[in-house]
Amino acid sequence: MKAAILEGPHDIQYLDVKNPTVGPNDILIQVKYVGICGSDNHMYDGSNALISYPITPGHEFSGIVTEFGRDVKAGKDGKSNFKNISVGDLVAIEPTTGCMKCAPCKENKRNLCDYVKIIGCHSDGAMAEYVSVPAYTVHKALKVHGDLEKDALLAALAEPAAVGIHSSRKGNVELERHGNSYFVIGAGIIGIMAANAINYLSDGQKKVFISDLDESRLKIAENLGCANHFVKPRSTNPVDFVEQLSSAGLYGLHNRGFDAVIDAVGAGNSLETAIHLACKESGVIVQLEVSDKPKNILINLKRETTIRGSRVYNLDDFKKGLGMLAGTNLKELFNLQMSEDVPAVKAYEGLENVKEAFESAASGKHLKVMIKIS
Ligand SMILES: [Zn+2]
Ligand SMILES: [Zn+2]
Repeated sequence: MKAAILEGPHDIQYLDVKNPTVGPNDILIQVKYVGICGSDNHMYDGSNALISYPITPGHEFSGIVTEFGRDVKAGKDGKSNFKNISVGDLVAIEPTTGCMKCAPCKENKRNLCDYVKIIGCHSDGAMAEYVSVPAYTVHKALKVHGDLEKDALLAALAEPAAVGIHSSRKGNVELERHGNSYFVIGAGIIGIMAANAINYLSDGQKKVFISDLDESRLKIAENLGCANHFVKPRSTNPVDFVEQLSSAGLYGLHNRGFDAVIDAVGAGNSLETAIHLACKESGVIVQLEVSDKPKNILINLKRETTIRGSRVYNLDDFKKGLGMLAGTNLKELFNLQMSEDVPAVKAYEGLENVKEAFESAASGKHLKVMIKIS
């Protein structure tokens, strides 16, 4: 089969490789669409120290079930009693794998397993014609458009959607007694997914503010209807902004700040901004950039602020992410533009164009870059 292999920073090769072996508990997937995410960009530019080259990237993907491993029990008709998945089905892959023995793994929270590995980051991923994955990572994609191509494109967004769901849950979105005001820093694809998840999981009961330096991203968030207020930090200092809203007693802030702030940027002074924004008593800050590196932050304990890491997603978040893709405006993302002739989602055709796709993703001009593999 053909695969795109990252041999080192900026060195991607389009090569013939052996088809993957399908282990007894695996399912072989023919890849349809794969998305490029921030962590892929870091693999590409060499700034991800945890990666060992060579590797086939790609952890955000959809595809067609092609073969079942011996123990996944496919009948003669190609049907499996495993999650009702059959050969030929369109699926989305939840790319976290774990030891499957520890307590978090047994609770389907592989994101908290000490041995969590991500397909496409720690093992070869979906920038190839085929990828073999553990059966437990496979989810049937929802029929949204009734058109395979469109549904496959949408299903490849399930992973970032699950990241958004998980972060909003870490921000207590399902706790009725938690407050109503939410602030999302960053309107990239993850910030948009987080804002959308707050709306989705609260049935629109929360007030969602979203900020980004790039106004075209805020326009996308506005077009999707995933937030109520759009903050331009270039013209408004977020700290002054919160003070203005609070002293006017608007949006339930009452001199206290937001109930939850989701930092979907995780760079520069975004966490500091979050701390100032979430100054309400018992306010929660959700930090999406999690690593082993300790963070140096200044925090006023009098506010009893909680800071939480949000590390990818668990099984339930992934399922909810699929539901959110089907049940909200997110499918409109494919019809939106950043500016004239610059689509919000750009899908490159064919594995041979992976390099171009990576360069395009690094330019940041689209909200999401994808590759159509088959
Ligand atoms: Zn990702
Ligand atoms: Zn485990």
